[in-house]
Amino acid sequence: MEYRKLGAKGPMISQIGFGCMRLPEIEEKGKWSIDEEKAIPMLRRAYELGINYFDTAVGYCHENSQYTVGRAIKPFRDKVVLSTKCPLGDKADSDRVFWNNLENSLKRIDTPYIDIYHFHGINKGTYDNVIEPLGLMKAAQKAIDQGMIRHICFSFHDDPKNMIYILERGEIFTSVTCQYNLLDRSHEESMAWAHDHGYGIVVMGPVAGGRLAAPSELYKKLLGKESDSTPELALRFVLGNKNVTCALSGMQTIEMVEQNAKIGDEKEPMSAEDFEKAGVMMEEIKKFSDLYCTGCNYCMPCPKGINIPYVFNCHTYKNVYGLVDHAKGMYSRVGREGDRHGGAAVSECIECRQCAKKCPQHISIPEKLREVAASFAK
Ligand code: SF4
Ligand code: SF4
Repeated sequence: MEYRKLGAKGPMISQIGFGCMRLPEIEEKGKWSIDEEKAIPMLRRAYELGINYFDTAVGYCHENSQYTVGRAIKPFRDKVVLSTKCPLGDKADSDRVFWNNLENSLKRIDTPYIDIYHFHGINKGTYDNVIEPLGLMKAAQKAIDQGMIRHICFSFHDDPKNMIYILERGEIFTSVTCQYNLLDRSHEESMAWAHDHGYGIVVMGPVAGGRLAAPSELYKKLLGKESDSTPELALRFVLGNKNVTCALSGMQTIEMVEQNAKIGDEKEPMSAEDFEKAGVMMEEIKKFSDLYCTGCNYCMPCPKGINIPYVFNCHTYKNVYGLVDHAKGMYSRVGREGDRHGGAAVSECIECRQCAKKCPQHISIPEKLREVAASFAK
């Protein structure tokens, strides 16, 4: 297994990490539990094969992941790098939220310390309105001084430039965990900035939540050759980016553990040449689409709440990348009330054309929205 250093301050970690959010589960009368007869051997096999980074969170696997991970790694706790997360709700009003979460995680995992403690899924708003005013960075430093955690980090879901905003303010951060894959390279520049400034980068969603695991012609188009299975190639692409410390894979079976560990054994998961080629081809393929939306967001916000780039993205997945089932699943969220991805239904459009006036690609947005909606209605 190849290892990379988690930024300037962090430990050496395996370039493939175990994302413990999809451990095998059993449902009985609406109650979920982890199938530990399968999950524990998987986690231990990963360790045997050299994977030393295990990432869990309070909410994973119906809130059972932390317990199982704790039991699995107990015999070799001091040999692994354990990551878990501090959820910060909107209602947090004092630093007790940090201490309660930390104390509960230590109990659930049954460990005296956590190596990598993340503020879970934050954005600029969480940093400005919760972390900073409630003094949570000071609390994190105190937890480090007391030996309860070794590093403070954050997982991030926001505009890429806000990753830099947060890193510039929280100088005690060791690393950031963010989304990055062939279909979503929006964080690439911020990741390069973070790497150059001494932060580690852990990637979640390297196979795009399973989308890149779907059989498709995509990879042949990208590299012009038959080679690996699609998830392998997706992982190789992510690790081909030298700014990435570790790619988290949500492994579900022993076979997946073994396949992933094999990729992690390679010094060069993807050559610089193939990495470059895959990225360029991805953009090229997109340009040949009848609808070249770059996802720049200039057309937003729509007064009716339609998430225009999201709708067009569904079209791209279906017609450009050939990920038909996934695109249908994505589109089924459009118009779903309260879904921040889907936004309002396309039928809400009042043709005010505010959006089209702002689009640098000169897309006739209201007409295209109708066409996309019609193609998914078939
Ligand atoms: S034309 Fe339709 S999609 Fe565009 S801003 Fe107006 S309501 Fe929104
Ligand atoms: S402004 Fe145009 S290119 Fe940019 S996200 Fe909107 S539709 Fe796409």
